[in-house]
Amino acid sequence: MAKGQIYIVVERCKACGFCVEFCPTKVLALSSAFNSKGYHPPHVIHPEKCSGCNLCGMYCPDFAIYGNKIAGSTTGGKTIAVGGSHES
Ligand code: SF4
Ligand code: SF4
Repeated sequence: MAKGQIYIVVERCKACGFCVEFCPTKVLALSSAFNSKGYHPPHVIHPEKCSGCNLCGMYCPDFAIYGNKIAGSTTGGKTIAVGGSHES
């Protein structure tokens, strides 16, 4: 059950992959979509596994992602993507 919520600021991402690599529960993957700079931002493949630890946010050099713990959540994780991703 997800305890975390992930925020992705798509337009800041440079697709370094640190967030994908360092997430302890492998919540993220790089998307096949592009942002306006031509990079593939991460997207969430296993929202239910997110603990809200914010390791992704600590490793991101561009402040493009962060995780929050959801207090008392029983309903699963929610992802908020900010910016103009054209993911389909
Ligand atoms: S907050 Fe933690 S568990 Fe959630 S995506 Fe980021 S690194 Fe992974
Ligand atoms: S760590 Fe930041 S810049 Fe790198 S892929 Fe993840 S969101 Fe994008």
